[in-house]
Amino acid sequence: MNRYLLASVLGVSLSIAAADNEKPTTETYTRAEVDHAFGTTPGKVYNPTKAVDTDDAPSVAFNAETSSSEPLKTYEVIPGTYFLYGNIAEVDENNRGFNGNAGFVVTNDSVVVIDSLGSPRLGQRIISTVKQVTDKPIKYLILTHNHPDHAYGAIAIKDLGNVTVIGHEGTLEYINSERIGHSVSYRETFIKPDMAGFKPVTPDILIGGELYSKNTISTGGKTFDIYNTGPHHSFGDLIVHQKEDNIVWISDLAFNNRVTFMADGSSQKSIDAQTWLLDTFKDAKFMIPGHGSVQSPPFPMVTKTRNYMQRLRKDMAKAVDDGTDLQTAVDSSRYEDWSKVRLYELNHKKNVDFVYREVELEQF
Ligand SMILES: [Zn+2]
Repeated sequence: MNRYLLASVLGVSLSIAAADNEKPTTETYTRAEVDHAFGTTPGKVYNPTKAVDTDDAPSVAFNAETSSSEPLKTYEVIPGTYFLYGNIAEVDENNRGFNGNAGFVVTNDSVVVIDSLGSPRLGQRIISTVKQVTDKPIKYLILTHNHPDHAYGAIAIKDLGNVTVIGHEGTLEYINSERIGHSVSYRETFIKPDMAGFKPVTPDILIGGELYSKNTISTGGKTFDIYNTGPHHSFGDLIVHQKEDNIVWISDLAFNNRVTFMADGSSQKSIDAQTWLLDTFKDAKFMIPGHGSVQSPPFPMVTKTRNYMQRLRKDMAKAVDDGTDLQTAVDSSRYEDWSKVRLYELNHKKNVDFVYREVELEQF
């Protein structure tokens, strides 16, 4: 594990330094700065009036005493399709792992939940939220990928019983990797009580096979095509096409109003999948990302995320070609036009590091 990753997984003081370079760190954030710049303001609860095509983002803080039966705020994207708009932030004691999005769809006979948020406690709050709008049972939970902010609430929903969990076949690799232990202990440093009862969930249905192939589930008059988009962002990523309504849940294939974070997956695979997504679903009504607001066509968040990755690849290919060392490449990279986008200061240099190493390996 490289030191950036180790820092982000284990540390609250985030040091930016190259793994094989003994030069001192170039940027270090204190806990207070992380709180201020990348976390969620304590005591504040603000929700935007709308969650579609907006740069406005929620700032929702709560605490360990907040009841798991308290519903989360929902945004009804279309009748029966509910979006849970998470903080665009790093996990901290204030957002308590509500730093990504999830949602659910009420069909004629049941409920399909897409992603489970970042702790068992939040998984319980999704259940409470569903109960607030319908008596129908949760029948399926689709986990788009296994990063903590999307998957760590799964156990609460699974424990309801009679819930079929669907995930990428890469889940098995993730569950057996070192990564999960680090991620759990990192979360526990902030939100230990909320993590009580955490267990990784092995999906009942594993999706894999050929890239961009799909599996279909139908329930209560709605069809969900679940596409294998490969390990572009994690150990395995899915996107979900809610067919009759023509809504695409794109997970972390593109970020809206947030700088991406590359630690698993592959920049080239991401770019390929973004291109596939735009080609395949250009007529979609909405795309719902894992971070940031819902978007209508022509889906500029996808183009922007792709441009960022293409630019990083180009810049790092040049750096490697020129014989620029990793530390210098990291130190000198600054994308001024991205600098005001949320989580830029936290993620950009890590992304530079990730892509430099990728490109160097590719050229080897
Ligand atoms: Zn995410």
